[in-house]
Amino acid sequence: MTIDFKKAGRVKEPALPITEIEHSAFCKSEDELPAKPLLDEIKVNIRWQKIPVKYLHLTAEELDQRLHHAREKLGKRVIILGHHYQREEVIKYADFQGDSYLLSQQAASQPEAEYIIFCGVHFMAETARILCSPHQRVILPNITAGCSMADMAPTGDVLDAWDDLEEVLGGGSIVPITYMNSTAEIKALCGRNGGIVCTSSSAPSAFEWAFERGERVLFLPDQHLGRNTGLKIGIDLDDMIVWSPFKRLGGHTPERIKSAKVILWQGHCSVHTRFTARQIEAARQRYPDIKVIVHPECTMETVQAADMDGSTEVIRKTINEAAPGSQWAVGTEISLVNRLAKNNPDKVVFCLDPIVCPCSTMYRIHPAYLSWVLDGLLAGEVVNEIKVDGETMKYAHTALERMLQVK
Ligand code: SF4
Repeated sequence: MTIDFKKAGRVKEPALPITEIEHSAFCKSEDELPAKPLLDEIKVNIRWQKIPVKYLHLTAEELDQRLHHAREKLGKRVIILGHHYQREEVIKYADFQGDSYLLSQQAASQPEAEYIIFCGVHFMAETARILCSPHQRVILPNITAGCSMADMAPTGDVLDAWDDLEEVLGGGSIVPITYMNSTAEIKALCGRNGGIVCTSSSAPSAFEWAFERGERVLFLPDQHLGRNTGLKIGIDLDDMIVWSPFKRLGGHTPERIKSAKVILWQGHCSVHTRFTARQIEAARQRYPDIKVIVHPECTMETVQAADMDGSTEVIRKTINEAAPGSQWAVGTEISLVNRLAKNNPDKVVFCLDPIVCPCSTMYRIHPAYLSWVLDGLLAGEVVNEIKVDGETMKYAHTALERMLQVK
C-alpha cells in the first residue's frame, strides 16, 4: 500500500465554525431568558435570517394572536414539531415535543400533514425531510438555526479523511458511524460506505453492529459521545484516537492509525462541553444528597464524575419519575432543565452550569419566525423549505434504516 503523502500532507488552518464562535452571544442571566420582541433580540451580534420588518416589532401577545389565527386556519395541513431545547415561547405551539429522532418519526407518521414545521436545527429538519413522504414539505422557521457540532464535520473534510483512512487501512476495514447530529451528506457518506447513524441512546449498539462488520470505527462528529460510548462497551482509551481535520493524517502516523480501534472526529457540542467535573463537585458540596445526570455529549471527565448519563429522553424520564423530594443537578441545555424544574415542583432540579447558555442555534427560532412561516403558508408561499437531493436522500436513508435495525 502506498500513501499519497502529497495529499495526506494537506494541512489546513484551524478554523472554528461560525456557529461555535457565536455560541456565547446568548449566555445571559436567568431573568433575561424570556423572549423579547425580535427587534431587541437581533441586537445580539450574530447572524439572523432577514425577516419582513413588521415581524420585528410584534409583542409576545401580538405574536400569540397571529400564531393562533394561522394555526386555526391551516388546521391539520400543518404540524409543528418542537425539540426539547426550544424556548418556552416556541415550544408551547408544538403539536409534538421530543428529541430529534422521535420528532422525525412523529412527522413520518402524520401523512395527512402537508407541511412540517420543525422548531429545531437544520440537521433535524433534514432528517425529517429524509424520513417523511415525498408530498410533505419540511420547513425550518429560521434558516440560520444550524448546529455547531454538525458544522464541525463539513463534507469536504470528512471525504478527505475517509480517503486518507482507506489509503492507510485498505478498503473495508473501517466502518463509519455518524451521530444523528450531522448533516444529511455525512449520513449519506455512512450509508454509501457500509456505515450507520446512531442516537445517543443507540450509540453502544451501533458500535457493536460496526465491530461485527469491520475492525475499526470512524465516529462522527462528536468525539465526546464517541469516547464515552467506546468506554461503555469496554474499549480502552489508548485504542481511541482523535482525528483532527486540520492536521496531516488527522495528526497521526499510519502505524498509530492502524493500531486504533476507534477514530473519533474532532467535533463537540458547544453546549454540553460547558459542564465540568468541578461544577459537579460544587453541586455535591452544596447538596450532599444530590444526584447528577448529564448528557453523553459532555466530556469523559464530566460523565465519569456524574451519577448517570443519558439522552435527552432518558434525562426527562429519570427526573419525571424520580421520588418527590429528590434533588437533581442536570448537565444539559437550559431550556429543558428549566422545563423539568417547572414540571417537577416537588423536586429540586437545577442546571449544573451557573451561567445560563441556551443552545445559540436553537435559540434563533423566535416566535416571530414561526409566525412568518405560518403566515407564508396562509398566503400560499412556502418559506424556508428544507430540501435534500435524491442521491444524498437515498444513502442517508440507508444509514438511518440500519439504525432502526440495531435499536
Ligand atoms: S445542543 Fe449542541 S448538538 Fe444540540 S443543536 Fe445545540 S450545538 Fe448542536
